Amino acid sequence: MGYVRIIPCLVALLLLPFAQSGLSQGPSGAPGKIALVGGMLLDGYEAPPIHHAAVLIEGDRIVRAGPAAAVTIPADYTRIDTSGRTMMPGMIELHAHLVLLGHGNYGTWFPWIEKQGGMTMLTRVMEIAARQLLDAGITSAVDLGAPSAPSLSIRDRINRGQIPGPRMLMSGPWLTRTPAVFPLEYQIKVDTPAQAAREVEKLASAGVDVIKAHSGLTREDYQAIADTAHKHKLRVHAHVYAEEDVRNALETGIDVLTHAGSAGTAPPYSPQLITDIVNRGRPVVITAAHRSWIYPDTNAFPERLQDPQLKKDFPPETYAEIQDSLKNWRALPYFGRTDREMLFRERGVRQFVDSGTVLGMGTDSGTPMNFHTEALWREAKVHVDMGMPPIRVISSLTRIGATILGKQRELGTIEPGKLADIIVVNGNPLYDIVALSHVETVIKGGVVHKGAGAATPGRGTAGQQ
Ligand SMILES: [Zn+2]
Ligand SMILES: [Zn+2]
Repeated sequence: MGYVRIIPCLVALLLLPFAQSGLSQGPSGAPGKIALVGGMLLDGYEAPPIHHAAVLIEGDRIVRAGPAAAVTIPADYTRIDTSGRTMMPGMIELHAHLVLLGHGNYGTWFPWIEKQGGMTMLTRVMEIAARQLLDAGITSAVDLGAPSAPSLSIRDRINRGQIPGPRMLMSGPWLTRTPAVFPLEYQIKVDTPAQAAREVEKLASAGVDVIKAHSGLTREDYQAIADTAHKHKLRVHAHVYAEEDVRNALETGIDVLTHAGSAGTAPPYSPQLITDIVNRGRPVVITAAHRSWIYPDTNAFPERLQDPQLKKDFPPETYAEIQDSLKNWRALPYFGRTDREMLFRERGVRQFVDSGTVLGMGTDSGTPMNFHTEALWREAKVHVDMGMPPIRVISSLTRIGATILGKQRELGTIEPGKLADIIVVNGNPLYDIVALSHVETVIKGGVVHKGAGAATPGRGTAGQQ
């Protein structure tokens, strides 16, 4: 593990001069004074939109938002015309995997990374994923499962403005009793609750932002994990499908129930479990789209696997490797039970939508065929198709997401005092949620990353680093 810790630091040091020269190249690389003027404003609340609005940004903060006619724009503000577009808070992805890029097979992806240079290649993969997320309008994201050192390094380099990416909350390796197909440094095997608690302590002192508890843990394990994490003010995301796992996680105080509702091979949950989740106000992140919707969607349009954006984002050998892994995608072990999961997919999502469960949006992005470029709008579309009003979906993607992370004072809405994480999309997502696939402008902390006036340091070069 020694090199695992050292290499990312070296890479960061080597990149530092370039990143800094990138920063000094133009004033637009640093936060300034920006006015977004003309478009419709969705502020993250489930309120009627404000038409022909204006948003003023000073430094990294929002200072004003309202109808353009009522907002005076000082002369020293850079105007960005958003007429005919929609302005909304940057989206929050509650379940991403930076170490994955949509490759079809974990069993060959990780050995391929090893062959391509190990940790250096892994770092490069994570940089590509982070940039794809930000390009897609995601200004905050939770990564649920990767080795600690590269996870924390990429988070910190993004925060220092050295590479583009969302504000990342990293879990590091997950806790489990039965290690999955991923390499060992992605997971921590625990055999007793006491050991689970000790491992949470270690992760906390390493500096992770959240804890991920995998399925198959006992109720006592969950209890130990939740109690220890909460002592360190860390929230726990549990990866749970089976009714018993969901109940154990719910009753031991696990903060976020992730994957619940994405069918698995289990039929819908008992009404009592749903009622208990709703009564406790416990958030669920379904990750609905990643298997049982993406599979038939790909059947209907296999051309999506050759989206030109992927070719642009990936270095040629990475693109070739991923294409190769998806050649015979219908036969991938990952989709081995998908035909069965599809039987339950609608009921699995609807029971949470209909019951008024607090829903955050997360996608398991990076998993097979589930590209970071589009996973979140696909997830949003599934929720709308399953009966969730678009305005509620937008609020899940933004304000509710921030609340689930405990960041609601800084993120998730467009109102004075909040961090200026704002996107501009082409179209009206209240009419057609797929408008979220047309993100034209991305502003994070007052810095324009994408769209008119963009000058994010490292942009366009992360693939080559
Ligand atoms: Zn998971
Ligand atoms: Zn996952």
